[in-house]
Amino acid sequence: MKFFRFGEPGSERPALLDKDGVGRDLSAHVDDFQGAALHPARLTELAALDPAGLPAVPDDARIGPVVPRVGNFIGIGLNFADHAAESGLDAPSEPILFNKAPSSLAGPNDALELPHEAKKTDWEVELAVVIGVPAYRITRADALSHIAGYALCNDISERAFQIERQGTWSKGKGLPGFGPLGPYLVTSDEIPDPQDLKMWLTLNGEVMQNGTTATMIFPVDELIAYVSHFMRLEPGDVITTGTPPGVGMGRTPQRYLVHGDVMELGIDGLGTQKQVCVAPKG
Ligand code: ZN
Repeated sequence: MKFFRFGEPGSERPALLDKDGVGRDLSAHVDDFQGAALHPARLTELAALDPAGLPAVPDDARIGPVVPRVGNFIGIGLNFADHAAESGLDAPSEPILFNKAPSSLAGPNDALELPHEAKKTDWEVELAVVIGVPAYRITRADALSHIAGYALCNDISERAFQIERQGTWSKGKGLPGFGPLGPYLVTSDEIPDPQDLKMWLTLNGEVMQNGTTATMIFPVDELIAYVSHFMRLEPGDVITTGTPPGVGMGRTPQRYLVHGDVMELGIDGLGTQKQVCVAPKG
């Protein structure tokens, strides 16, 4: 099942996509996709509702992020060997973690405001997982039973802040709008093998990234279990699992986002995103 959220920022409503591709408003049945509502058993109940009895979502509705808020928004660095190579870095021997600020969460098609000071803003198409069941010190074999589902993420990154400002990568990862997540929260039954998904990103129509989750160094189940040994993951937490080659930093010459640029990205089965880069308001 594909779930999503629609409406203006901060007042989105939960919905599902019926088998005819029509959005159906779930707000009479669930407040929002947070807490216990993200438990796989609860999502299964919602998926079993008769969509004909649910109001249709307007076609022109804005799509919000798949969850209203995220506690831990964890990124995984250099998780594709070929992306590590284009970054001029060795493949890591164990996963690299960083934090994306929870306030970076955005809708999949929201305009991206490029901060005035940001000169090296870059794109990263990624497979993200949304936690549905608390996870602390879990095993790899148990890991996928703790997710609510999968979502497409653009791990937008300001490279100068990330790399040239010293300390952690988090400085370049958490600006407002740097975490578009969606359009859909896709439950595991629709993604039988998360390590066999094509992923792509275009800039102004030109292919920049064209990869597959098959080339991840650390697969999704291993990442969830690994992160759970450093923090207790809660429902609504998000782990975004790294990007394949083709980022702007890895190109010759390097290419970074400017006003008017349009990013479009997608992953098999998870839908697509489109962000237009604009000047900051005020
Ligand atoms: Zn990333």
